[in-house]
Amino acid sequence: MTKILIIEDEPQIRDIIQEILECEGYRTLEAENGLAGLQLAQQSPPDLIVCDVMMPELDGFDVLQGIRDDPGISSIPMIFLTAKTDRASVRKGMNLGADDYITKPFTHLELLSAIDAQLKKQALLTENYTQTIQGLEAGLNALTYYDALTQLPNRRLLTEQFHHVQAETQTTGTLDALLLIGIDRFEWIRSTLGYSFSDQLILAITQQLSAHRYMGNYAMAMLARIGADQFAIVPRNVKGHPDLDQFAQQLLEILLQPFFVDDQEICITPSIGLACYPQGSNDIETLISNAEIAMYQAKEQAGPSHEFYLPTMRSQRSQTLTLLAQLRHALEQEELRIHYQPHIDLHTGHIVGAEALIRWHHPEWGILSPNLFIPIAEETHLILALGEWVLRNACQQAKQWQTLCPFPLNILVNLSPRQLMDPGLIERLQRLLREEALEPSHLILELTESTLMQDPDLALKIMHQLKAQGVRLSVDDFGTGYSSLSYLQRFPLDMLKIDRCFIHDIDQQPANAAITAAIIQMGHALGLKIIGEGVETPAERDFLFEQKCDGIQGYLVSQPVPAEEVLRLIMDINTST
Ligand code: C2E
Ligand code: MG
Ligand code: MG
Repeated sequence: MTKILIIEDEPQIRDIIQEILECEGYRTLEAENGLAGLQLAQQSPPDLIVCDVMMPELDGFDVLQGIRDDPGISSIPMIFLTAKTDRASVRKGMNLGADDYITKPFTHLELLSAIDAQLKKQALLTENYTQTIQGLEAGLNALTYYDALTQLPNRRLLTEQFHHVQAETQTTGTLDALLLIGIDRFEWIRSTLGYSFSDQLILAITQQLSAHRYMGNYAMAMLARIGADQFAIVPRNVKGHPDLDQFAQQLLEILLQPFFVDDQEICITPSIGLACYPQGSNDIETLISNAEIAMYQAKEQAGPSHEFYLPTMRSQRSQTLTLLAQLRHALEQEELRIHYQPHIDLHTGHIVGAEALIRWHHPEWGILSPNLFIPIAEETHLILALGEWVLRNACQQAKQWQTLCPFPLNILVNLSPRQLMDPGLIERLQRLLREEALEPSHLILELTESTLMQDPDLALKIMHQLKAQGVRLSVDDFGTGYSSLSYLQRFPLDMLKIDRCFIHDIDQQPANAAITAAIIQMGHALGLKIIGEGVETPAERDFLFEQKCDGIQGYLVSQPVPAEEVLRLIMDINTST
């Protein structure tokens, strides 16, 4: 029932108002002065106040002020009763926030219609207010629990709802399981193709996954986006590892279909981490973290793959992270050194160049091989700083050798995939060559087949830009990837290094000998210089010589050694032949 407070010091007027209102079905409260009225409004807030202006204790203006200053009752509509048409007091009351006024004497109709109008206005305001609050709540809820781009549940909703979802969809004997999908080199896609492109790619992937919520025997109880490139799936009714394994296989298959973004076809390499434990183990955070570790393990495989979480992975991962943190310092604390492996021209027998190979002089573990830390650095932007450091030092070194000895010398530097795709590469290289005053054709950049194959079109474009700078390009470890020589023909290459697995025991391994002979012949037909890597014995060197291979690198000549040692070798070898 609507409650109206009447504040009026004249008892007769108060009684008349009360009678009129009660006849109309309102409940009334009464106060005989301003102070009592204000206190009553605070103790038992009414829906509306009818208040006289001229009163002892507190007058109507003071009551209005008190009401508007109290957040608990500030929005109650208030109608003033004035004894005469005193324009000044009406204006003052309206300025203070009174909603209406009635002049005494008034008819019951005047009073009732003023009250009715104010109550209706108040009801409308309350309704609008409620709607606004509901809208804000919904917006807040969406921001808190849903990913803004895809509208999929986010990590928080996944964490909070996991057990609820599980309880609703699982039957006895099933596992608490999670599949975590990551997209290999997503950061790279984002930095080279842009945020808008990568957002659209994520939307396309979301659509593809959503369209396959039900796949044969498998279904998703929840699909969430929990990281830039990470989608989590709570599977429905998974009984054991074989079930999860098959589910992951099917997901990989659907994600290997090409996506179309801006009319451009793009293929992604998904990696899936799988984690599970017996039903009801109540620790979703650990489950997510385990799936994440398994996903990173899967990312280490070339190509699409999935991995189950194993407890040993956690310690491996934490070692990797420790190493990564230490590697950042290593660069600052000058623990990194470059060793150089001479490169011999088989026609002249002279050292014509050297390959820069990085080493880490770790304070506790001694000298660490690049095979141990380069792949870790490649997972992050650290490889860019590290790669540039190698490039600059190697170019400086080459320049120094050139001034110290009379032989033309090339410097060979390995370039990682991330470095090649780095949008700032060309500009930095230009600056570096200028600052170090190295003739660009003396710099040979080595790229592996897999670097070229990750995104052949983009690699081709960047390689042409590199060639325009005057540097030379070589494919490294040839034969270990999946590319054929005819495929490599499209790239502007100058040199090809045959991987040492083909060179090893080549004089006793007819298959390796046949492959190597064919590579040399076809490579020459394409105008490439061919280098044999990892030559350890005179027999291996002789075979390559007979096949007209252009150059060799390997322990037979020298292991990778510090720069001073290389200078000594150059002077020894190049002046004795
Ligand atoms: P890679 O570029 O193919 O370098 C040749 C590797 O074979 C070197 O290993 C070298 O020490 C080794 N090697 C050379 N001759 C022989 C031989 O006769 N027998 C045997 N068994 N091995 C031989 P290293 O120095 O451990 O480097 C391994 C890989 O690490 C390199 O392979 C390269 O891919 C990478 N790497 C090294 N330095 C850098 C760098 O500065 N940047 C990048 N991105 N990668 C680097
Ligand atoms: Mg190399
Ligand atoms: Mg190599």
